[in-house]
Amino acid sequence: MVELQQRLIEVERRIGQAAQKSGRSSQNITLLAVSKTVSNDTVAQAYELGIRDFGENRVQEFVSKNHSLPQAKWHIIGRLQTNKVKDVVGKAFLIHSVDRWQLAQELDKRGHYLKVPVPVLLQVNISGEKSKTGLKADEVVNFLQSVGEFTSLKVMGFMTMAELSSEPEESRPVFRELSSLKKQLDRKTFTNVELKYLSMGMSQDYEVAIEEGANIVRIGSALFI
Ligand SMILES: *Cc1c(COP(=O)(O)O)cnc(C)c1O
Repeated sequence: MVELQQRLIEVERRIGQAAQKSGRSSQNITLLAVSKTVSNDTVAQAYELGIRDFGENRVQEFVSKNHSLPQAKWHIIGRLQTNKVKDVVGKAFLIHSVDRWQLAQELDKRGHYLKVPVPVLLQVNISGEKSKTGLKADEVVNFLQSVGEFTSLKVMGFMTMAELSSEPEESRPVFRELSSLKKQLDRKTFTNVELKYLSMGMSQDYEVAIEEGANIVRIGSALFI
């Protein structure tokens, strides 16, 4: 607990520093604790220390942790199969990983059935890595135009992952490009779209991501080792 608290203080200090560097307040930046490697007990400790947002990349873990700590905001950050949609709609605060049209359709259908909104981010594959899922940058506008037909799904912004690297600066061009795409699209109006969030940066590169405009950082190992 003490160690977790110390790591949290350090991460928050760095978030504050990066926010200041980019002329923003850390209050507008959400620390999303990626709890995929840790137990329910550790999640409960993190909540006690003030963390409110948690991310899981597996639906089964999402369901069980959400059940054990329903007062927290639970995010889905990993690839989502369409047959798991029923387990997350109405429970996820935000789904970061919408990477294909069929998934968006299934999410909307489920939201419509349950009469609940389905807030999502579009995952964009800026780096162009074949191994990474996500829409290509030039597919995003079409996608945003098409979500106007939905009743429940709302696009609340974008998420991306940079390539794994020990050098945070290598992620900067990827983050900058997504940030610039968001700025361009902010000027346009789309139905069922409100580009509020930019989810980018992990333990290795969250400071760079914040400098480039991230307002959600997804941090696992820097908190939980
Ligand atoms: C695991 C994971 C993270 C956190 O990674 P760390 O390097 O442990 O901070 C962030 N985003 C996604 C999508 C992940 O799967």
